[in-house]
Amino acid sequence: MIPNILSIAGSDPSGGAGIQADIKAISANGGYAMSVITALTAQNTQGVRAVYLPPVDFIVEQANAVFDDISTDAVKIGMLVNADITRAITTILIERAATTPVVVDPVMIAKGGASLLDPSGVDSLITQLIPQATLLTPNLPEAAFLLGCAPAQTETEMEIQATALRTMGANSVLLKGGHLDGQFSHDCLATADGIDWLQAPRILTRNTHGTGCTLAATIATNLGHGQSPALACTNAKRYIHATIEQAHQLKVGSGHGPVHH
Ligand code: PLP
Repeated sequence: MIPNILSIAGSDPSGGAGIQADIKAISANGGYAMSVITALTAQNTQGVRAVYLPPVDFIVEQANAVFDDISTDAVKIGMLVNADITRAITTILIERAATTPVVVDPVMIAKGGASLLDPSGVDSLITQLIPQATLLTPNLPEAAFLLGCAPAQTETEMEIQATALRTMGANSVLLKGGHLDGQFSHDCLATADGIDWLQAPRILTRNTHGTGCTLAATIATNLGHGQSPALACTNAKRYIHATIEQAHQLKVGSGHGPVHH
């Protein structure tokens, strides 16, 4: 069976992050990709230049068009920009996808420093969307922001923060340790069963544009295939590692380059 995977996220015309990364990741991992576009960004590998928002009603219209016609096996959520969009997407999930696995990537700041979620959006994310998440996939700065504390610097702190994020209502949390140093990149998965660690050799590269989007979309696809959260994350980590390793084959831009699917 080919699972139908819906990405609800922002568009990146340079093809490395957002909806474009999600469609590539979902397709490469054996899913049928669908997309509801929350925002149009004007960006390239060097940074985000501008953001244009469709009216919230139109974002809802896109989602309803999909849900009215197509059964959805998993949803990935990325850039939500503000509280209005976050609230509208949460309502859609509750009304139309209550039993569908939902991976929430709490996208806040792009690598170039541009804000992708304003402060009121962070509040809505915490109070409304996170309780609907099957899996939340923050990196270390995002986790710290959500918890109102300093970024974790050790594995013990990562376990504490991943567990604390579960108490906000997400079923499971994959806290990504990519921002730490070391020979390996360690991610901490907190589920109802406890803590699991995922690891991969660290690749020193500038080609990391869209890695968070790619990982979350791949996990959603794996959940759509019926994999458990632990297996979905393990396989997705292997996939993202391979795409970063292959990124040098691309000649795309002069900033943070995309990964190769
Ligand atoms: N642009 C869009 C539309 C995104 O959704 C994201 C991340 O989720 C980014 C940019 C940020 O990408 P990065 O920080 O990997 O460059």
